Amino acid sequence: MSLTHRIEPGSKVSLDDIDPGETGPYRGKDDPRVQRQLAEDVERLKALQERLYAEGKRALLVVLQAMDAGGKDGTLRHVVGPLDSRSVHVVAFKAPSDEERGHDFLWRVHAHAPRKGEITVFNRSHYEDVLVARVMKLVPKELWRRRYEHINAFERLLADEGTRVIKFFLHISKGEQKRRLEERLADPEKRWKFDPGDLPVRAKWAEFRKAYERALSECSTEWAPWHVVPADNKWYRNLAVARALVETLEDMDPKFPKPAFDPRSVVIP
Ligand code: ATP
Ligand code: MG
Repeated sequence: MSLTHRIEPGSKVSLDDIDPGETGPYRGKDDPRVQRQLAEDVERLKALQERLYAEGKRALLVVLQAMDAGGKDGTLRHVVGPLDSRSVHVVAFKAPSDEERGHDFLWRVHAHAPRKGEITVFNRSHYEDVLVARVMKLVPKELWRRRYEHINAFERLLADEGTRVIKFFLHISKGEQKRRLEERLADPEKRWKFDPGDLPVRAKWAEFRKAYERALSECSTEWAPWHVVPADNKWYRNLAVARALVETLEDMDPKFPKPAFDPRSVVIP
C-alpha cells in the first residue's frame, strides 16, 4: 500500500489537489500501527540495503526536496539514520561555490551520484537549479527553461547505467511552515535552526509552489518518478518515505552474489 502520491509521467501536477495533512489509513500518531509499521519498514530497508551492497551491481539515488522546515532533516534522521553507514551517503547541496558556478549546473551533482552497491540521498539537489534559481531570478529564463530536459536526460543516464532514482517532495502547508518557524524562534534549543534568510523565500511561497509544480510535471519520468509526500504530520511523512523506499528496493530485488567457489569444498583449518 503506497502512502505517497506518485506522479504519473506526463501529467500536470496541481499541489492544491494534494492535502499536506493526509494520514492515509491511520487515525493519528498514537495509532499503534504507526510505530510498528515504521520499525518493520526500517528493518526491511536495512536488509534490502545489505543485499544491494552485496550484489554490488546497482545503486539507488534518493532526492529530497522541500520548502524550509519541510522536514528533510527529520526524514533523514528517522528513515536514513538507521541504515548501515558504510553504504549510504547523504549529500547536502548549498548555494553553489564560485568554482561550482564556473561549470554547468549538473557538474557538482554528477560527482556525488552513488557508486554501485550504494545508496545516496541528496538533501536538496539539481532541482534547486529550476526552483530557487528560477524564483529568485539567479539565472535568466533562457537558461532555466532548458534545464528540465537536461535533468531528464541526466537521470536517464543514471538509470541506464544501473542507478534507480526516486524523488520526494515533502509537501507542507504554508500554515505548518509558519508554525514550525515560530517554534524554532520560541524554543532556545531550536533557535539556532532559525534562518532569517528563509523569510524572503517564504514570501515567495506561491512562486515556489508554481516552480515545484512545473518541476514535478516535467521531470516525473518512468525512470525517475517524483513522489509527493503529505508532510504536515512528521510521523506520516516518515512512514510514507520509508514505505516508498522499501517498495523501490523490493522492486529492484537485489540478490546476494553466488560464491565463486564451492562452499562445501572449503575447510577452515
Ligand atoms: P536547514 O534545514 O539546515 O536550513 P537547508 O537545506 O535549508 O537546511 P541551508 O544551508 O539553510 O540548508 O540552505 C541551503 C541553501 O542553498 C538554500 O537556500 C538553497 O536554496 C540554496 N541552494 C541550494 N542549491 C542551490 C543552487 N543550485 N542555486 C542556488 N541556491 C541553491
Ligand atoms: Mg535553511
